[in-house]
Amino acid sequence: MFLTISLSGDAANPATDLGYLLHKHPGKAQCFSTSYGTAHVFYPEADDARCTAALLLETDPAALVRRGKGKGRGGAPDAALAQYVNDRPYAASSLLAVALSGVFSSAMRGVCAARPERAAAPLPLRIEVPVLPARGGAALVRALFEPLGWRVAAEPVPLDTEFPQWGDSRYVRLVLASETLTLAEALRHLYVLLPVLDDAKHYWVSADEVDKLLRAGEGWLPGHPEQQLITSRYLSRRWSLTRQAREALELVRLAEADDSEVEAIDNAVGEETEAEEKPTPLAVRRREAIIGALRAAGAARVLDLGCGQGQLVQELLKDIRFTEIVGVDVSVRALTIAARRLKLDRMGERQASRVQLTQGSLAYTDKRLKGYDAAVLSEVIEHLDLPRLPALEYAVFGHARPRTVVVTTPNVEYNVRWETLPAGHVRHGDHRFEWTRAEFRSWATDVAERHGYDVEFAPVGPDDPEVGPPTQLALFTLRAQKEAKAA
Ligand code: SAH
Repeated sequence: MFLTISLSGDAANPATDLGYLLHKHPGKAQCFSTSYGTAHVFYPEADDARCTAALLLETDPAALVRRGKGKGRGGAPDAALAQYVNDRPYAASSLLAVALSGVFSSAMRGVCAARPERAAAPLPLRIEVPVLPARGGAALVRALFEPLGWRVAAEPVPLDTEFPQWGDSRYVRLVLASETLTLAEALRHLYVLLPVLDDAKHYWVSADEVDKLLRAGEGWLPGHPEQQLITSRYLSRRWSLTRQAREALELVRLAEADDSEVEAIDNAVGEETEAEEKPTPLAVRRREAIIGALRAAGAARVLDLGCGQGQLVQELLKDIRFTEIVGVDVSVRALTIAARRLKLDRMGERQASRVQLTQGSLAYTDKRLKGYDAAVLSEVIEHLDLPRLPALEYAVFGHARPRTVVVTTPNVEYNVRWETLPAGHVRHGDHRFEWTRAEFRSWATDVAERHGYDVEFAPVGPDDPEVGPPTQLALFTLRAQKEAKAA
């Protein structure tokens, strides 16, 4: 099993930097032992103009058999011989993907202390895999790699060059080239897509594979046109795992769609304003408005209730006046994504002491939520069934009772300005309701009245003279507190 990774360069940006990026010296041939054989890394060429690293995995067929998964694809029990004589030694597969992630683990994470700027930058890369099993053929290979920014050459390998009439094998010779990807992205594409194309795994696919897929797929898998096929094949069609992964990817996509759909509206709306200026996505404006309100209220210890994937928590962390930030969400999956976004595991001690992510449902009182300066409910209330809303109201305003509460929710009147939204539709599938400005005001005013808060309203996003802003914000302030502050 073999693949090569090449970088081109010049005197100013020598291609030999590839050695630093991969953490493998171009002058040395190195071996690494893996559970299934030996991985060799060496450089067939290394100069300023071009540097190529080769990864060769020599499998040990006996080890494969011992581990019981040495067979080729297919459900039928393998004949004894087929356990030893099969394509595994030469075809790029999950074995090669695992070796790749083992041998180049730092590069895959984009870590390079010696050349950090090159690790973060798009590079002129070329990758060659001489024998790639491709279930779905060259067309699928293109459908998987092209949307990611690769130019793809996938030539079918004939079954036997002596007998062209036998036709093609299921293997292709793959050459990928791109100038728009970082090395880490390139490696993560291969790590996921090699086994997907092979459509077989040499090991039992367990629940932690979902995590591996999400980690390796970060930034490119959500929104990939073949996401479903990739997920299902990567997880060996294990239905429950595939469903978990799809849910997580859907969350990411929704968050991103929120930004991009709104960008589309802003573009439409912004025509009369300066054409040059790139409109700020609504999600960003929302976070700015929320943080502005929290600062004005002098809040230091803040709850982000229904924090989702942690974008607001991330912004809050940048401002040291927020000394304690707690993200709460009912979805473990969302919290996992949030933890990854915040790089909680790699965070310094002082930063880490300011932030906490915790699972909980806002439909129940929770004494952990007592004693904070402020709580944010950003785009959360509309995710609860209306009959559950009084429970949330009590848990937050009646029980936790922070001095300040910021609530945002879509303004349904604005939906007519949303060109991509069919009439009468809510902004996304999980919204149980969307309110007009009058409905939101009436709810918020009643809540404030029932629990002793004052409430003010503010628009977020362009405030349309007819239909109002896309997002509406209510700022609640505990009454006693307000009087105490004024005194
Ligand atoms: N606040 C984030 C996410 C909004 S999406 C933002 O502004 O981008 C709504 C979030 O509310 C989801 O992450 C969902 O899991 C969470 N949520 C829905 N019902 C909940 C409940 N009963 N308790 C806690 N979180 C809930």
